[in-house]
Amino acid sequence: MILFTYKTNSEVSEINGVYRFQIDFPSSFGLKFVCMYLFNIDNTHILIDAGLNIPDWKKTFFSELQKLNLSIKDIDYLIITHEHPDHIGLMKEIKHKNPNIQLLMHEITHDVIKWMTDPKNDDEIKKSADELTARTIKYGITEEMAKNIFGFSTSMHRMIPYIKPDRILNDNDEITFDSTKLKFIWTPGHSLGHICVFEESNRHLFAGDHILSRITPNIGTSMMNPSIEKKFDFTNILDYYLKSLDKIDELNPKIIFPAHQEVIYDPHQRILEMKKHHDTRLSEVSKMIENKPLTPYRISQIHFGEDLDGMNTLLALSEILSHLIYLENQNKIKRIEKNEKIYFIKET
Ligand SMILES: [Zn+2]
Repeated sequence: MILFTYKTNSEVSEINGVYRFQIDFPSSFGLKFVCMYLFNIDNTHILIDAGLNIPDWKKTFFSELQKLNLSIKDIDYLIITHEHPDHIGLMKEIKHKNPNIQLLMHEITHDVIKWMTDPKNDDEIKKSADELTARTIKYGITEEMAKNIFGFSTSMHRMIPYIKPDRILNDNDEITFDSTKLKFIWTPGHSLGHICVFEESNRHLFAGDHILSRITPNIGTSMMNPSIEKKFDFTNILDYYLKSLDKIDELNPKIIFPAHQEVIYDPHQRILEMKKHHDTRLSEVSKMIENKPLTPYRISQIHFGEDLDGMNTLLALSEILSHLIYLENQNKIKRIEKNEKIYFIKET
């Protein structure tokens, strides 16, 4: 993997008392930058997410922090929304520079990071990757493509730094301050242990990748450690995601601070749009298989195009699959197995 020669543009803005660190992201996923957020409640500094572990990115973050006359030692809490590498990159370094910081993350996020980073689990991780590869081939991808994609994704896991959190979060946990409360909402969908952080008095929602301003985040499960698989059934992940959107809508946030793209000033409207988008995709997908059965991979090619790179092929497939499984659970479509491939067709 080439990591990375690029120009790190950055911008720090203040929105309603919240500092937004927007730093460029060297990516082909259509996401231009990653944001970390910093705010203060009753002299307690709270940082949301830990960016990317790339030298340029790191340098930019620390120098922008300095421009605000703050050092990492001034930060009291680091809250992780989910385990993707652009959200946890600097957490080990930050904890190292400020051992007093309280590092918080959801139980599942911790389980996933711990599992993936422990060399003792190498065999289990390999087995899980092999199973995922086999399953993906059944969904229509060629063997060669699957091997390319998953060779990459297992090596990714070595890039994630493990560090023990100071507190494990569960759904609806809270921290109470004199002037307000922070509430943690478990929002599985984009990742299994994803959380949003809600600051009650300003009704600010720090949404990680759960709600973005212009695109809908990728939904899907990838590799999973066996202990999580035993505890939860995430097969119908789109159902979890849509319910997670409702949970946020019920909180009635005033401003959403997402990890990518623009700040959202009309959260309810945006949530409605995103739900509509999934409804539309559900009907498009089921229309494609009205008369003839197709593999999930073929559907993803028709829907997203045929010239995607390995990572985007996987994202497109998992997106389509989450919609197919949702429809299957509603008994609107069914799966057929033929020549070791899985096809879906509309129920008649
Ligand atoms: Zn993410």
